[in-house]
Amino acid sequence: MRLFVFALVFAAIPGCTCNPNSVNRGDLNLVSLDDEWELGRQLAAEVDAQVAPLADAEVEAYADAMGASLVAETELSDRAWTFTVIEDPAVNAFALPGGHVYIHSGLVAAAESEAELASVVAHEVAHVVARHSTERMVKAQGLSVVAGLVLGDDPGMIREIVAELIGQGVLARFSRTDETEADALGLRFMAEADYDPDGMAAMFETLLALRQRQPVLFERWFGTHPLSEDRVEAARAGAAEWDGSGWGGDPARFEAARRRVLARTPAAPLAM
Ligand SMILES: [Zn+2]
Repeated sequence: MRLFVFALVFAAIPGCTCNPNSVNRGDLNLVSLDDEWELGRQLAAEVDAQVAPLADAEVEAYADAMGASLVAETELSDRAWTFTVIEDPAVNAFALPGGHVYIHSGLVAAAESEAELASVVAHEVAHVVARHSTERMVKAQGLSVVAGLVLGDDPGMIREIVAELIGQGVLARFSRTDETEADALGLRFMAEADYDPDGMAAMFETLLALRQRQPVLFERWFGTHPLSEDRVEAARAGAAEWDGSGWGGDPARFEAARRRVLARTPAAPLAM
């Protein structure tokens, strides 16, 4: 269904003789998927010790369902994933290697539609599927260090990585190429999961408008995701490649989840 965008996304990779359905077509990732999931488990345990979940079962169920619908469209759908809404008014989301996606409650509050929210979650899912974190860690620290982390040799370093992640978004700071890839893949995942792909450009516009009102809530997201006109244009052009009919989703369920978030996140940007 609606797959003609696919060739466009991958046609630009010169000399790729690999399976065009595979996301990890360019960079050889030296970390096995099993090791990546083990590393993610350790990092997530540390993140979970340092952040506060929103503690709202309905919102959590909503995020889980949205995440599962997106993951179902990826090549890593047979792996275990977690989607956690954390109580934090900042408009942000981040992903750990090994299928752990964290969504700040401020992001849910800021999104004006289900497709807008899905676009950011899909972008984070795409970082995981493309394995950007482990690629980056291996490049920065070498395979032996990452392998040692997987084996649990250095719990202090896991704590340090997570402290940096939470403090400065270090793990979330990918290259511009990675970001472009995450946008393109995210757009594909959301459209295949029947979320209107116009939601990605719409989310960018919502974020730009909100940032003018409450810039402090956007520092982290814009710090790791510079929002250029190119990026918005690419999202618009990418969405136009899909046929634009039959988008699903559940606006009433989104609004209900968002209302619950607003009630629990008084500083959320749209609480006005
Ligand atoms: Zn990103």
